[in-house]
Amino acid sequence: MSPYDVDLFVIGAGSGGVRAARIAASHGVKVAIAEKTFYGGTCVNVGCVPKKLMTFVADYASMMEDAAGYGWEIGERKLEWKTFISRKNDEINRLNGIYEKMLANAGVEIHWGTAQLAGSHGVRVGDKIITAERIIVATGGKVFIPNIEGAAEHGITSDDVFYLEEQPQTLVVAGVGYIGLEFAGIFKRLGSDVHVIYRRDKILNEAFDEDVRDFLEGEMTKKGINFHPKTNITKVEKKGKQFLVHLDNGEPILADQVLFATGRTPNTDGLNLEKVGVKTARGGAIAVNEEEQTNIPSIYAVGDVTDRFALTPVALAEGHALVDRLYGNKERHISYDNIPSAVFSDPNTSQVGLTEAQAREKFGDDIDIYTSQFRAMRMILAGREERTLMKLIVQRSTDLVIGLHMVGSEAGEIVQGFATAMIAGATKDDFDRTIGIHPTSAEEFVTMRTKTR
Ligand code: NDP
Repeated sequence: MSPYDVDLFVIGAGSGGVRAARIAASHGVKVAIAEKTFYGGTCVNVGCVPKKLMTFVADYASMMEDAAGYGWEIGERKLEWKTFISRKNDEINRLNGIYEKMLANAGVEIHWGTAQLAGSHGVRVGDKIITAERIIVATGGKVFIPNIEGAAEHGITSDDVFYLEEQPQTLVVAGVGYIGLEFAGIFKRLGSDVHVIYRRDKILNEAFDEDVRDFLEGEMTKKGINFHPKTNITKVEKKGKQFLVHLDNGEPILADQVLFATGRTPNTDGLNLEKVGVKTARGGAIAVNEEEQTNIPSIYAVGDVTDRFALTPVALAEGHALVDRLYGNKERHISYDNIPSAVFSDPNTSQVGLTEAQAREKFGDDIDIYTSQFRAMRMILAGREERTLMKLIVQRSTDLVIGLHMVGSEAGEIVQGFATAMIAGATKDDFDRTIGIHPTSAEEFVTMRTKTR
């Protein structure tokens, strides 16, 4: 007889937590989970899913514009913002229900409420303490707003942008990471005037290839997004129903909304980490070893709360592999190499493997670069000047493809398949031997024959 109430207690029913709980239960152990906000976590509720729905609503605007070039006569068009938000909310509620059902069907005991560590084998939810042989903390991340006068009071974050009552006619976005660029593209396509403020001289950061950063900025600028590099917001002031955004480099901007897309931090508030002695790392992330284990052997952590790769599929994979090792008799660890990702900007950008700078640092001159820029077929009759960039980085001595980058329509859909090829160790010769699917944009990745450098 186990001395504990449950074998495993998972704190947080987001991507990593739900996956860990469900799979652990399928391995036959007794699992409980606690959640205080919503089933499915950030991704399902205020992240990837509603964001993708917003990219779709914005895509329709571009498609209707382009349709004229193909002979369509489209009458007056108008987005009923409230209808969209309500349809989006229905879908999120449906998904919440699915997540709850998934847990219940897997036999996971659900505790609704705020959970707190109560020792190395205990979790407090409300006035109950549940004991567990092991605990997984999967509490994710939370939005971060810099300490700027008026920012927290008047600004919004990605938690709020999905629930705006009206579409902002003028939007200021602070930050040029995933979230900033995605929403800049969404609102621009919907017809808003968009200003993007950032302290660097280029968009994105060093995790992205320099060519990608330059090319994407060029394409987004062509679409009418106003980029303000090397600029900081100094103050956000309320002006009637609007906000005056003061800058340290340029005239103030009067905006309907100011979106702070300035990063996320690990969500460890109220967990009682210090009292229980769980060590944290830089930025307050829970420190774990390669077994996802904290310094307290019975306590583990997965996903954004560990601040490694803040991506849903990584949290899913970490949670899944961990409980497979603990309860499924499978010695499975995930690899952090070749993690593909996409920014659903307009156009999309997606990448897997090394940037050119990272490849040069690792392999010196032993690399070949192949690039291709073109106007995708669909754009021609549409009358759009939008161009696509594709880039391959190859280690010359081994012929291995070590980096693959794309800026262009459906980049995420295209790069996903190539990521598998790279995980499998595809060489440039393998790419060259692959027959293209014609006419597609993706075929360009298998037809690049001439080295750029
Ligand atoms: P990012 O870390 O991607 O970008 C944050 C941006 O805010 C950067 O431009 C950063 O500038 C800027 N910034 C940070 N602190 C300050 C500050 N004090 N003052 C001014 N600017 C600041 O974070 P996001 O918020 O865009 O997204 C959070 C995470 O969520 C992402 O890193 C990603 O892991 C995940 N995500 C993934 C998505 C996807 O897969 N498609 C979509 C959305 C989110 P600087 O670079 O100069 O520090």
